[in-house]
Amino acid sequence: MPQQPLAQVPVDATWEWQEHGACREADTALFFHPQNERGLSRIRRDRAAKSVCARCEVRLECADYAIRAREPYGVWGGLTEEERERIYVKAALTTYGREKGAGLRAAVDLL
Ligand code: SF4
Repeated sequence: MPQQPLAQVPVDATWEWQEHGACREADTALFFHPQNERGLSRIRRDRAAKSVCARCEVRLECADYAIRAREPYGVWGGLTEEERERIYVKAALTTYGREKGAGLRAAVDLL
């Protein structure tokens, strides 16, 4: 069985915001894709989750946590895991500069 990546919870993480999440009233299955889900069904489920996040009063706190924790799965703060990955790559590119190979080094370091 492949090793599952784990979130890297920031040492200064707080959790009170979760008490106010709009997803507390929603089906959690909306936010986490089932194994092998892809295509139109994945797009539709992600959009449904994002519509819940769009009216959530703690969206920024949620997104900040998920990005800093490198949450590997699910829609958090209105961002899918693929969207968060792009943020990590962008952040790494900034840190690593723009010279040839910088993108690859950033991607390798993020994997
Ligand atoms: S932003 Fe979305 S995932 Fe985060 S607490 Fe709000 S509804 Fe839940």
